Amino acid sequence: MLNHFNMKTDGSVMEKLLLVDMDKCTGCKQCSLACSLIKEDLFDPARGRIKILKKEDIAMGLQLLCEQCESHPCIESCPNNALSRDEKTGIITVDEKLCTSQAACVEACIYHAIRLHPESKRPMFCDLCGGDPYCVQHCVPEALQWVDKTDDMVKKKKKLRSIRMKMYKELKEEAK
Ligand code: SF4
Repeated sequence: MLNHFNMKTDGSVMEKLLLVDMDKCTGCKQCSLACSLIKEDLFDPARGRIKILKKEDIAMGLQLLCEQCESHPCIESCPNNALSRDEKTGIITVDEKLCTSQAACVEACIYHAIRLHPESKRPMFCDLCGGDPYCVQHCVPEALQWVDKTDDMVKKKKKLRSIRMKMYKELKEEAK
């Protein structure tokens, strides 16, 4: 059974978070393949909820995925209130009955983490597999890690995220 927490010896629970380290990423896309397999039952990195940008000359990958961020502009952007957030885990989900595929959330996401599904045209983004992210199991260099949500790890996640976003801007500039 999937869950968001680790049971501690005193009976309390420890929340977890997904740590994403660009410096360890080789750009192999195993995470995207694993994601598309578990979500769609096929191998297609374009359908992975984690997207990898590659910089071939230095064998580097840059991961883009939902950050379960504090500001979540995607939710506010949706004219149909189709997106909602679990306050405890930060996981955002879409109500496909309410979504009309206007892609406002795609535009609003400051981490470039939302894409529309090629067939359904509904937004696709990481939901942490409900608390047991499958991609982590397939990332050999451990550029993705599912760790206990301590204050230090929250700070580290934010720091790694800002490094990735800086690199994202540089890659976009280079591509112009
Ligand atoms: S599996 Fe790990 S190393 Fe490979 S692209 Fe994904 S995050 Fe990067």
